[in-house]
Amino acid sequence: MKNVNNGRTASRALIVTVLACLAIVLAGISYHYTGTGMLYGATEAEDCYAGSPLDSVPALKLPAKERWRNLTTALFIVTQGPPYHMVHDLVVAPGQPQVVVGKFDYGSIFHKDLEYEKVYVYIYGTGMSAWQKVATCITDWDGKVYAQIPARGPGEYMIKMVVPGDLSVAYGYMMVLDTGRNTVVFDVDGTLTTTDFEAVEDYLNVDDGDAIYYSSELVNLYKRRGYQVVYLTARPYWTARMTRSWFNLKGFPNTILHTTLNNIDTIDANETEEYKIDFLLHLRNDVGMNLISAYGNSSTDIGAYKAAGIPDDSIFIIGDSAGDEGTVPITGNYYNHYWELEEVLECGY
Ligand SMILES: [Mg+2]
Repeated sequence: MKNVNNGRTASRALIVTVLACLAIVLAGISYHYTGTGMLYGATEAEDCYAGSPLDSVPALKLPAKERWRNLTTALFIVTQGPPYHMVHDLVVAPGQPQVVVGKFDYGSIFHKDLEYEKVYVYIYGTGMSAWQKVATCITDWDGKVYAQIPARGPGEYMIKMVVPGDLSVAYGYMMVLDTGRNTVVFDVDGTLTTTDFEAVEDYLNVDDGDAIYYSSELVNLYKRRGYQVVYLTARPYWTARMTRSWFNLKGFPNTILHTTLNNIDTIDANETEEYKIDFLLHLRNDVGMNLISAYGNSSTDIGAYKAAGIPDDSIFIIGDSAGDEGTVPITGNYYNHYWELEEVLECGY
């Protein structure tokens, strides 16, 4: 038996050695070919993505649990139900104040604000190798904190806010503009999802919704070509948690998501358009973003994108309003559009 085993071990070792050598030779060949840039010319544009620290975020080590500062918190606030905390994503130009707003509340019915309680703020992103604690804040009467982040240079950052009272966590993103990088804007409901938010009766199940065929592939295509992606939705702020988990579930890239600051469920069409115009003009005029194209499904999207100065031939509309007002229609789903774009889409900066 021993000899047989030795024989097997020897032949296994030989096979492993041969395979290893073969792998080295193949790696050399493949390196040589990609190096010439000839055989892979068609996918050269894939190289325009420089990578993001947010593609692989280390786990945050939570602090120790602490006592609540107020008795009322334990009695009347956290008893309301699960946390709906969120961090409002921030987009700024280099040199602009980096103040990130967090909102903390509990319960799907009353959204009771977490008042006058402690929140720790952490950041991870471009140029960093680990999470760093950057602020300790106390929530205000509205359950909000305004965290001053020590100035960061151009890049992408994840922000986590931890409530030491129960170790509940909210997260969001901060983008410090890389000048010259192009931005593409996506509406969410009816544009990435198959249904409008208004049609979803039970908000708790929003994250179960379907994505339109090839919508996540489309958004990821822009990301790979180096574009900044911004999700702009009229969903209320407290849906941010579900929206982000839906993005994760369906394979959409994690990046800037802008929701309304309102507590009310929905806002009407006029308000929606004004809200979207305000944010897009802020991105264009205050931050200096280059908004080059946008995707939507409604007349309010068309109105907002036009008002933000995005040209008609770069406004892509799916659904009932497809092609309205001189915009580009997307029929049914994004499959054909994706493959057309895959051929021609240039680097985003
Ligand atoms: Mg929509």
